[in-house]
Amino acid sequence: MFPTAIAGSLPKPAWLAETQKLWPQWKAQGDELRQAKADATLLWIKAQEDAGLDIVGDGEQSRQHFVHGFLEQVEGIDFEHKVKMGIRDNRYDAMVPQVVAPLKLKGRVHAFEAQLARAHTTRKLKFTLPGPMTIVDTVADHYYNDKVKMAFAFAELLNQEALALQADGVDIIQFDEPAFNVYMKDAADWGVKALERAAQGLTCTTAVHICYGYGIKANVDWKNALGQEWRQYEQVFPALAASKIDQVSLECFHSHVPPQLMKLLEGKDVMVGVIDVASDVIETPEQVADTIGAALQHVAKQRLIPCTNCGLAPMDREVALKKLQALAQGAALARKRYA
Ligand code: ZN
Repeated sequence: MFPTAIAGSLPKPAWLAETQKLWPQWKAQGDELRQAKADATLLWIKAQEDAGLDIVGDGEQSRQHFVHGFLEQVEGIDFEHKVKMGIRDNRYDAMVPQVVAPLKLKGRVHAFEAQLARAHTTRKLKFTLPGPMTIVDTVADHYYNDKVKMAFAFAELLNQEALALQADGVDIIQFDEPAFNVYMKDAADWGVKALERAAQGLTCTTAVHICYGYGIKANVDWKNALGQEWRQYEQVFPALAASKIDQVSLECFHSHVPPQLMKLLEGKDVMVGVIDVASDVIETPEQVADTIGAALQHVAKQRLIPCTNCGLAPMDREVALKKLQALAQGAALARKRYA
């Protein structure tokens, strides 16, 4: 009951990359960088296990950014000439690469870190990929001139990599779709279909992470402007409930998401965000257990996965570690309380 997991990303150690940045520069190059990424991956697997998490991941230590890490292995994308683009409906600007030709994978994208992680943990291994709609929102298009067509082109590539990750022994493949909370109508119209294309043929567990973003200022300001009730999930959850995706994540603790929206996910496993990634204050086990208790009003016991609201990449490393411990301790307390 209540197997714990994180959304995906974890802070990179200062010897691997710049800290507390969404697009950090690496501190090494070539073989040295490859080794540093491997070391950081192992370190976080051990830290997640020691914290007591049931489902672990690579902490996205091998990718600069959760979307661009995937794009670096895609042919047809020009990384040399990045352009400034407003992303997530112009919530903030990012320097993004450009699509300039038909998209094709150069080869495997995440084999190195996935196989490394698999070789070093016996716990359930979750691996994250960006979802097609979020990719389309984080790249400039100078080739397709059609968002939906481009999303499905990316979905095909994601599917190739996802099937290979499954063969590597990954237990759960999660697609990150923060864009679902921004373009709700598009998400319900074609975003979920593109997501299903990306997950086509997978027999391992599949998941989608939808959030209100990392705890950066642009996102915090945006959330403050969303009013007292955040009903974004309401438009996309029915489409997800009808989809083949097994698990859906949502923000809960410190959010203004009406908890009854979880009822729209009947039949799915629900990753409930019990850890706030926009605050350095460490949750107490009691707070985590209370959030789980509140979610139990709307989600079946055997379907609830306590999770973080979003990734922890831009956070302080020590804070992130303590939050992992709070997550595991809170879930343990909830097991006692609600068994
Ligand atoms: Zn997120």
